[in-house]
Formats: sequence, C-alpha cells, structure tokens
Amino acid sequence: MKKIVRRYIFVLLGVAASGLFYTAVSLSQSSIEEMIVVVPHPVLRQQAVPILADDEETVQLLQEMAEYLEDSVLPKGGISLPQVAVAKRGFVAMIDDEAVIMMNPSLVFTGEEVPSLEGCLSIPQTFGYVNRSAGVTIEYHDEDWIRQTLHLEDLEAFIVQHENDHLNGILIIDKLLAEAPERVRDINMPLE
Ligand SMILES: [Zn+2]
Repeated sequence: MKKIVRRYIFVLLGVAASGLFYTAVSLSQSSIEEMIVVVPHPVLRQQAVPILADDEETVQLLQEMAEYLEDSVLPKGGISLPQVAVAKRGFVAMIDDEAVIMMNPSLVFTGEEVPSLEGCLSIPQTFGYVNRSAGVTIEYHDEDWIRQTLHLEDLEAFIVQHENDHLNGILIIDKLLAEAPERVRDINMPLE
C-alpha cells in the first residue's frame, strides 16, 4: 500500500515537473515573439551602439532570440536586437541550420550585386527584391566574446546583410527594387 502511494506521488511530481518545463519553454518562445516591434517604431531607425564585453544581459537576450529562431515553425533567417527594441549592435542569423549569435559585426562585401527576395519580421506582409552582395566576409564577437570570421554566400550572406542593415536603421522598404527581376529565390524564404 505504501509503495503504491509513493509511486502515485512520484508520477504526480513528474507530471507537475513536465508542466513547469512546458510553461518555461512556451514563455521564452512567446516573450521574444511579443517583444518584436514593427514599423514605424522609432528604434528601427536608430543607429545601434556597440555591445560592451561585460553586457551579460544582452548576451542572454541574444540566446533567447537564438532559441526563438531555432524553434520557429515558420522559416526565419535572422533577428536583430533593434527588432526587440534594443538599439545595440547584435543579431542572430541562421547559418547551416544553426542560430549563430553575432555581436559588433563588421562586413566586407565580396562578389557582384544580386537581387534577393526578402521579408522582415518588423514589416508585416511586405516582400520584395533588394540588391545584395553575393558574398560577404563577416567578423563578429561570438557569445563567448571571441572574435570570429566567416565567409558566407548567397542566402546566408543576404541574411547577415539584412540584419546588419537593422543595426544602422536601414530597412528593406528603403531598398526595394522598383521592378522585380527574374525570380532568384524560392517564395518560401525566411523572414528576417
Ligand atoms: Zn528585418
């Protein structure tokens, strides 16, 4: 009898624990989603400031943004700090199916300009072509504050250029090409 009661309590505790876990997961998901600001929010037009080495709060926020991107059902290419109303130079970009945290990035453009079909989490229901460099070399601080260098091409290069524009208050609506050129990317593209 005692054994059965104990087992029953154990099962109940397990259910409660998984409930708590589920709540924690869904809270972090919805909190980033709810933090996303849309045009014409003024933070989207600000020049973002560099992130300082001891800014752990911002690194933690970027980690939550990375989880949000990775767990997203819809395809999403990236999200920048200004899009959650924090005017600091950092973003998360999907590289090789992984959400990579990039702080204080500097970009060197390589290759010719090509049209890229893009959407933006901060500009609902707007898609269009913008010109992007086909390749980019990006230097950034990772979440352990180590300076990294990556060379990216095509979609991944477009994503970091889109996110880097956010750090300078530039949006795709500033760059939309008047005429859509020949389609170069699938319509099921990620939102950035
Ligand atoms: Zn965007």
